[in-house]
Amino acid sequence: MRHRIVALLVFCLLTVEAAWAQKDLARLTGLPPQREDTLTLYIVGDIMSHGAQTRSAFRSGRANYSTFFRHLESRIREADVAIGNLEFPLAGKPYTGYPAFSGPDEYASYLDSLGFDVLLTANNHILDRGSEGLARTLDRLDSLSLFHTGAARTDSLRHPLLLQVKGVTLAVVNLTYGTNLGPTRKSPVVFGLSDWQPLLQEAAASADIVLVLPHWGLEYHSVHAPEQEALAREMAAAGAHLIVGTHPHVVQDFDKLSGTPVFYSLGNAVSNQNDLPARLELGLRIRIVHRFGASPFLLDALPEYLWCTKPGMLEDSYAVIPVRDFLDRQDAWRVPADYYRMVCTYQAVQAATGLPDHELITFPPY
Ligand SMILES: [Zn+2]
Repeated sequence: MRHRIVALLVFCLLTVEAAWAQKDLARLTGLPPQREDTLTLYIVGDIMSHGAQTRSAFRSGRANYSTFFRHLESRIREADVAIGNLEFPLAGKPYTGYPAFSGPDEYASYLDSLGFDVLLTANNHILDRGSEGLARTLDRLDSLSLFHTGAARTDSLRHPLLLQVKGVTLAVVNLTYGTNLGPTRKSPVVFGLSDWQPLLQEAAASADIVLVLPHWGLEYHSVHAPEQEALAREMAAAGAHLIVGTHPHVVQDFDKLSGTPVFYSLGNAVSNQNDLPARLELGLRIRIVHRFGASPFLLDALPEYLWCTKPGMLEDSYAVIPVRDFLDRQDAWRVPADYYRMVCTYQAVQAATGLPDHELITFPPY
């Protein structure tokens, strides 16, 4: 829903003067006094670009990613801010998958057209084609109507992304534990976990709600590592209102640290990974309430398990589906065994993470 978002360049903040009467606020916003508004975020994990995904999308000769998130389209479009982790550079041809990715420009165009608002670039694969590949990625993303954060052209542009939506200023801080390949030039720069303090400090001073999205943790572990928890505690104490991690490629557990909700890992968003836990993922809906004259606050979180189907299993190509919507649709599968894989994995991952599907997590106002 990006037409309602205004990206704020550095410190261009809307300051509500205390002297403004409430009727003035109402007039400015076009809403009656005491009006309450709700802002919705939708966040998914690692958007991968494995070679098999590219071959499937281009099987007719022209790019067609339309099935990838078809079943999530309403969630993405209806969210005020939809966010995903772009775990590959748009480095041009030749398109490559693991271990050194370069994804097609058409993939990013598809994500844009679907309604994603923010793509994250602080991840271990973003320098897979060197600094030149990252520079091209930033150019391509800037040519679309997407916002992005996690990397910047120069060190002086190392800031949180600030978005203003429905009168709420939201800061998005995206950081990675490292990159698989090092930079080939001094710029662009990728935001590292070691940068968290100044970025979080700036975000807390600039925004109503601070969202921290670290790319961290141990791959394929369904429970978080002590290092993640220690860092999350520090971030919570420094003003993070919500922490949502990616990188392990599987769903990890949830906790509240000093009142700050922490989803340690959402898992993949779409991939060609075969391990069953890597095919089960989380889509996360977050709601923020804004009452005029009061500070916005997190209302609740709704984690929803998703399943990544491969070409020919359900659709002709990859298709990510909400598990709950398909539990009673076994007949929809072209490969029935995959339905049973989904159900078994769904049960096993909920047991391993202790994170139930579709159970609303509410937060006290702070
Ligand atoms: Zn990663």
